[in-house]
Amino acid sequence: MSALKRWTVPAIGALLLALIAPPAQAVAAPQPCAAGHVRLTFDDGPHRTATPDILDTLANRGVEATFFVTGEMTAALPDVVRRVSAEGHRIGNHTWSHPELTTLDRAQMTAQLRRTNEVIEQVTGNTPSEWRPPYGATNGLVEAAAQDVGLKSMVLWTVDPRDWADLPATTIRDRVLQGVRPGSIVLLHDGTGQNTPAALPMILDGLAAAGYCTQ
Ligand SMILES: [Zn+2]
Repeated sequence: MSALKRWTVPAIGALLLALIAPPAQAVAAPQPCAAGHVRLTFDDGPHRTATPDILDTLANRGVEATFFVTGEMTAALPDVVRRVSAEGHRIGNHTWSHPELTTLDRAQMTAQLRRTNEVIEQVTGNTPSEWRPPYGATNGLVEAAAQDVGLKSMVLWTVDPRDWADLPATTIRDRVLQGVRPGSIVLLHDGTGQNTPAALPMILDGLAAAGYCTQ
């Protein structure tokens, strides 16, 4: 082999490799929000320990979420709801005492929603416009009652890991990550899911790794 050939063959090989190999960075870190957005919602709170724990995690990651609180628990733990609001999260109305609204008469429905609006406004200074019916149980009468008290936007969900049943945190994570699609609304519980605070950092890691942003 000539001196020239000994030098050029490996050089051309190295050049080709550099052209063919994908940049390592593209594999390690997907573009932020490349997969779209996912909305995280927490129901049935506030809870004395779980809600602050969840708020700490969200603050550490710079993530915003929505909390569908009950009036009853807001009245019992106003400082926790004040913190939720102060940290930039959205607060929605989840009725006063979490009944199945479709079983109530119109006056009872209205009272459940109006009292909750009032206590949220007293505590945070803001009246909610979003609401979520307990158990997702709704009909035309329920929705008319919500309109009457200024609740413009009913928010249900598309991913339900059933975290309230105290599943292991890893199961909650897996169900969320397997269920999400761009635009998903994830139903979680700060009020009743014992393992939800432990699942949340893993859920956020998995969503970020898959290229989702949360809102
Ligand atoms: Zn609920």
